[in-house]
Amino acid sequence: MSNVDVHCDNGAVRIIVRERPVRDAQGFEEDSSSVISYLEGTRNVLLADGRPFTFDKVLGPNASQEQLFLDVSFLVEKVKQGYNCTALAYGQTGTGKSYSMGLNSNACDGEFVGIIPRCLREILNTSLNNALESHLRPIELNASFIEIYNEKVFDLLSDKSTDPISSRGYKYTGGTRKVLKSLEDCYSVLLQGNKNRHVRPTKMNSQSSRSHAIFTIHINTFSGNGVLSTRLNLVDLAGSEGVRRTGHQGMAMSEGVNINQGLLSIGKVLQAKALGHKVVPYRDSVLTSVLQDSLNDNSYLTLLACISPHRSDLSETLSTLRFAQSVKQLKHSPHINFI
Ligand code: ADP
Ligand code: MG
Repeated sequence: MSNVDVHCDNGAVRIIVRERPVRDAQGFEEDSSSVISYLEGTRNVLLADGRPFTFDKVLGPNASQEQLFLDVSFLVEKVKQGYNCTALAYGQTGTGKSYSMGLNSNACDGEFVGIIPRCLREILNTSLNNALESHLRPIELNASFIEIYNEKVFDLLSDKSTDPISSRGYKYTGGTRKVLKSLEDCYSVLLQGNKNRHVRPTKMNSQSSRSHAIFTIHINTFSGNGVLSTRLNLVDLAGSEGVRRTGHQGMAMSEGVNINQGLLSIGKVLQAKALGHKVVPYRDSVLTSVLQDSLNDNSYLTLLACISPHRSDLSETLSTLRFAQSVKQLKHSPHINFI
């Protein structure tokens, strides 16, 4: 059975912008005032050095992790209903992508945990409740956690996480899936994945700013209509400044190997879709190939654009805000697929 319950509205693509707090003064470069301001009496409008931008949600520097999750938990509802969902954190390095996603620590509980542990907790609670209340449909939960660096996929939940499992031209067939039955399972998945992400040696100091991390929660729901398999992809993208620098300021020679093909391609894919092109270049990068099923029209997409308050980052901030605006042009119409 397929194409049941077509849900078509612009709410399928949502853009959230989050301004991180001002960094403590670190020498003369840092300015403690923010270049971002908010119009009194308006919601979800921000001014970047006086230029107005409107999004579905704008979160200021004092917004808590819980407030952020309130705007993302809608994806949890949708994935439980049977839709594929994706949240992408985009922005310059240091603007809070990993903090927001919950990949800066292994904690699963507490005020400061981010989106991934909060999603896990929420979905896990549902599956535990379902197990207790037999009239509800049973749910099976799995997690996979991969990293894409230099056009290669690394399986962060494998014992051989240092060997790529896929690269350009080779089909990605999925990483290790770990069964999740309790919060302890979630904690150990985050612990193992984050550890493998950080200890993988080689020469990449700023690895996390050049790699994409994709945490996927796989949900199988059993019902009279068959098995419903859905995915919630939570993606911590590489720092967007690399693309700008290599793209616009001629640093391609020295940083040649580090041009972030994935980030360039995600922009091209979203642009081709927004313009209604028939051919969408999903296969231009490993990132877009891996995310193809999640970036197509049949999914809920939330972009979290993280921005810096500092004047020295203004051009990156404007570039992030423009990217976020272009993503808003997308029209998705997700539907539920039974297998
Ligand atoms: P990115 O992943 O975008 O490179 P991080 O998430 O690692 O950036 O954030 C950089 C630093 O700023 C971290 O120490 C993080 O804890 C802190 N930080 C970022 N955003 C916030 C926020 N909204 N509130 C508090 N601290 C934050
Ligand atoms: Mg990061």
